[in-house]
Amino acid sequence: MSYTYKDLLSSEGIDFFAPIPLRETKIIYNRKLTQMGIDENGSALIILIPYYVSGEEKNLSIYAVPRDYHLYFSYLGERLTATLSLDYPEYVFRSAADNAPINEVDAAVKAGLGMMGDNGLFISPILGSYLFIGGIYTDMPCSKFGIFDKVTDKTECIHCGACRRACPGDMDSKTTGCLSAITQKKGVLTKDEENLIIKTGSVWGCDICQSVCPYNKNIAETKIGFFREERIPYLSRNIIEEMSDSDFAARAYSWRKRETVIRNIEIIDRKGEQNA
Ligand code: SF4
Ligand code: SF4
Repeated sequence: MSYTYKDLLSSEGIDFFAPIPLRETKIIYNRKLTQMGIDENGSALIILIPYYVSGEEKNLSIYAVPRDYHLYFSYLGERLTATLSLDYPEYVFRSAADNAPINEVDAAVKAGLGMMGDNGLFISPILGSYLFIGGIYTDMPCSKFGIFDKVTDKTECIHCGACRRACPGDMDSKTTGCLSAITQKKGVLTKDEENLIIKTGSVWGCDICQSVCPYNKNIAETKIGFFREERIPYLSRNIIEEMSDSDFAARAYSWRKRETVIRNIEIIDRKGEQNA
């Protein structure tokens, strides 16, 4: 039997996905599933969406260089649910670009797509960790998606310690001490927080614990056109100020408003002027 939804994913450049019964997942928002018309007898199709592109001089996290992933996934989700509904008209299919009803990282590990890294990120043994995880939810039983081999039986990384050694912030406090969280904080930063931004030169996010991870060595670039187009790898005050409101809204950093990114750029620029 040929599966149209697999052809659609393959034509997008998405090679790794797997279904899982919802009963085996950690359901976070039962209400959301109910609103979708789905209960725990249904299943989820977990999809790995790689975004890695190499060779750019940049001052922000790789994920934030192209337009916001959510734009991509809402469009992909629409096409996937339409395709699945044609193939299986007796079932309901819903996508969740944001606020997934289950813990999708946990589901991706349980579905055999990859493992948890000590840096707190999901890692595929083939794609590495520069990826997003998306989900399609349905009342269809898992078995109807077809037969899937696990990509890996491993659930944890090799614990090499490279990410912890390289981390400039506090890996154990991803909400406060992590540079990625600090660059996204609103308002005035502490001297220590400013120094971390100056030290790394990052105006948005932090990829250090990914860049040193052995699973990210020699990974392939994404084949997905959306992540290869309209890239802004280096942000300056002018670039941020000159973006139209709709262009700015299409960027991952827009949820923190222009002021937050400009504040980070100014912290780095101020230091540069002092050293000149
Ligand atoms: S994102 Fe950066 S600061 Fe945060 S845990 Fe990873 S290396 Fe540390
Ligand atoms: S750098 Fe090492 S310890 Fe950290 S996530 Fe990668 S494999 Fe695990």
